[in-house]
Amino acid sequence: MSSFNVVYPFTAIVGQEKMKKALLLNAINPRIGGVLIKGEKGTAKSTAVRALANLLPDIEVVEDCPYGCSPYDRTLMCSSCQEKNGNLKKGWRKMRVVELPISSTEDKVVGTLDIEHAIKKGEKRFEPGILAQANRNILYVDEVNLLNDHIVDVLLDAAAMGVNIVEREGVSYSHPSQFILVGTMNPEEGELRPQLLDRFGLCVEIEGIRDPETRMAIVTNRMEYEKDPESFAEKCKKDEEALRQKIIHAKEILGKVKVSPEMLRLIVDICIDMQVDGHRADLTMMKAASAIAAFDGRTEVNENDVREAAELVLKHRMRRKPFSQQKMDSDRLEQSIQKNREKPPQQQQQKQQEEHRHDHHHDHSDENSQATRSDASKETYFRRVTPSG
Ligand SMILES: [Zn+2]
Repeated sequence: MSSFNVVYPFTAIVGQEKMKKALLLNAINPRIGGVLIKGEKGTAKSTAVRALANLLPDIEVVEDCPYGCSPYDRTLMCSSCQEKNGNLKKGWRKMRVVELPISSTEDKVVGTLDIEHAIKKGEKRFEPGILAQANRNILYVDEVNLLNDHIVDVLLDAAAMGVNIVEREGVSYSHPSQFILVGTMNPEEGELRPQLLDRFGLCVEIEGIRDPETRMAIVTNRMEYEKDPESFAEKCKKDEEALRQKIIHAKEILGKVKVSPEMLRLIVDICIDMQVDGHRADLTMMKAASAIAAFDGRTEVNENDVREAAELVLKHRMRRKPFSQQKMDSDRLEQSIQKNREKPPQQQQQKQQEEHRHDHHHDHSDENSQATRSDASKETYFRRVTPSG
């Protein structure tokens, strides 16, 4: 039966809002560096990942290219597509979920370079690996904490750079490898080393759902889907298309999103207050907050975007704490934001020294950004929906 192939719709997933948002933000900007989903074994995670691939718009590819290069962006093409100088066979296809089994060897992941061939014939021969298949797709690693540390390292390198570089005995080969990285882990089966944890862009925990209404909705949806997947998918079609368009629009405006000096300062202050080492958290938070704004149809990052980004970016970067202290973390985040608000805008050392004025600029600026925000998002949203070519 063909209905066996009908993927459970993303928009029909009830609850797990943070997980869904983290996935969407990576779809908008894969350079955020992926999502680590923590939680017990279950189907929610892989269902969501498959649903995301199905939701995302089809991509145009060079048909016979093993990396599925885009026929248009030369900077993101493999060397062979570049050499063809625009003479490329084009086609469309759906995004895929490429799975990386935990038993994978390094060669299988990065691909193999034929050294002998290179020495004898002076030309490079490369057998593509999983990172080649993953280009422009979703790379899914179930139980990433059980994967060899070195392979996780290679994966995270590629995820951050969008390129896979293979070097063997002085010969090197590189190809595009831009993917949405999704790793899952069950914390009961061992932790990831903190150095690796820190390199996953975002991290979310699967929520245990205790609200009876939500649980009922989950079961009802699932039953309906299992009974007749096709009509269930048909019912969700409109929502799926609306969300797809929202993602397309967000990707289009992402490059225009601005982070004001005030918001950058807030990001940096939060990272300092939460005692996060290094600068990766600051950078990721900026990217995530920008993607959140773009998803909302705005080109200016506001405080709420930063708050939401902080929750996704900081969880796995803070020193480990017992479960009961997680509430305290969000209180600390709130305190940090509050503290920043109370600072006079454009705080400067000289100003600080000369006076202790207490004007309440912040109330105003809040109202302003609120107003521009809803207007802008409405306007751009509708303008976009109509033509879409
Ligand atoms: Zn190519």
